[in-house]
Amino acid sequence: MTRRADEIRERLHAVRERIASACRTAGRDSGEVSLIVVTKFFPASDVRILADLGVADVAENRHQEAVDKSAACGDLGLRWHFVGGLQSNKASAVTGYASVVQSVDRVKLLRPLARGAADHGRVLDVLVQVSLDGPDSQHRSGVAPDDLAGLADAVDSHDDLRLRGVMAVAPLGADPGEAFDRLARLHLSVLADHPHATWRSAGMSGDLEAAVSRGATHVRVGSAVLGSRPPVQ
Ligand SMILES: *Cc1c(COP(=O)(O)O)cnc(C)c1O
Repeated sequence: MTRRADEIRERLHAVRERIASACRTAGRDSGEVSLIVVTKFFPASDVRILADLGVADVAENRHQEAVDKSAACGDLGLRWHFVGGLQSNKASAVTGYASVVQSVDRVKLLRPLARGAADHGRVLDVLVQVSLDGPDSQHRSGVAPDDLAGLADAVDSHDDLRLRGVMAVAPLGADPGEAFDRLARLHLSVLADHPHATWRSAGMSGDLEAAVSRGATHVRVGSAVLGSRPPVQ
């Protein structure tokens, strides 16, 4: 094993232990929580190491980087998730590699996503990203809670899209537990109308325990597995 492979193996093991331990504390079965490794900024060679270590799900947040990396890793049988901001003119292209788009935050994305999915002969799994930021935040990413139900209905009205659930990022500097409690309530309201939309994607390197204790079904972990990323340009 190379040094890098060793390092990733140890870090991945530690993250899996954290998830298992958070599940035990919450009285949940660890099989209820899926780990998605966020590979943004890291090379295809790291993705290969992850696949060797049994990782099945990886996520990217930039379209071009994801195109290149997924092409370089096309033999690995991974499931690619897209978790970044999407422009509607790129949305259909994302379906060329992504099986799941977690960052759907507006109706305008749905038609291009559905068209792309149909072109690729697949049904695209969609999570609606909901904002947990306060109403006066500058950096809201995700649909406002008031518009969540309408967006979920709109996803479900497309045959080529499958509404799987909700995704959120805890706001910076706030208590993630409180934010994930809000997400839990919002998710329950979506589930009331869409009982099959059972995925709740929440929790990252710094707050996965808080997310698991509030019912996350998917955690998206980058730096705890792969190390710190270069600062965002
Ligand atoms: C980068 C990213 C993550 C992973 O963040 P870490 O703190 O490195 O674990 C999770 N979710 C989204 C949407 C991201 O962009």
